[in-house]
Amino acid sequence: MKTIGLIGGMSWESTVGYYQMINEGVKKSLGGLHSAKIILHSVDFDPIEKLQHKGDWDGTAKILSKAARGIQAAGADFFLICTNTMHKIAPQIEKAVQIPLLHIADATAEHLADKGIKTVGLSGTAFTMEDDFYKGILIEKYGLKVLVPGDADRKIIHDVIYQELCLGKFLESSKAEYLRIIEQLAGQGAEAVILGCTEIGMLVNQNDTDVELCDTTAVHAAKAVEYATGGLIKLSKPKESWPVETDIIR
Ligand code: GLU
Repeated sequence: MKTIGLIGGMSWESTVGYYQMINEGVKKSLGGLHSAKIILHSVDFDPIEKLQHKGDWDGTAKILSKAARGIQAAGADFFLICTNTMHKIAPQIEKAVQIPLLHIADATAEHLADKGIKTVGLSGTAFTMEDDFYKGILIEKYGLKVLVPGDADRKIIHDVIYQELCLGKFLESSKAEYLRIIEQLAGQGAEAVILGCTEIGMLVNQNDTDVELCDTTAVHAAKAVEYATGGLIKLSKPKESWPVETDIIR
């Protein structure tokens, strides 16, 4: 079994989910007393969040590259960045190490492709919904059509992530707003909606809606288990940038 490196703590609430889901997946796959071989570097999220919102992505890359070098030195065979947003700097982190990254957008797109889904809604932080680093992979590499919510709804989703979910607050009023936005994306033609932030699955889940949900934490963790236990997954390097057009639903 391969050793999985996790760069977590963004937020730690969602990293708990990764730890649990990966161990449950290994147990299911290998049985008995098997559990996952994991090296976790959990960062302090507060300075990272401040750098993100100042636009100092190079500053965040320095912190996460150091973490990646640490988990490589500790013996990880491959690694995951346990947040969608921080894949914005995935190319810089990958350059810092020799071990491969299991990219969350690849894991997500492969899951959707297996289900035959072609048009997908995307929820996540403003960085994930608006920048190209994530959508670009879905669109250019996998041929998906990506719908994102309009300006006001993107702000609601983003603010709830940083002001509630990353602090472990799960409010019924926010859940209702997320479900409204999810239903709206489905009404615009999305065959599934990506929960493209690793905390959203703690607020809404498949029991709350008939719209097909793709929880990126669960999908990413499942791919890690598949790869660690011998699945034939080829990890590829993402492109530096993905200039793309996205449909914005208003
Ligand atoms: N965990 C979140 C994500 O998946 C947001 C926190 C962060 O900015 O990394 O995007």
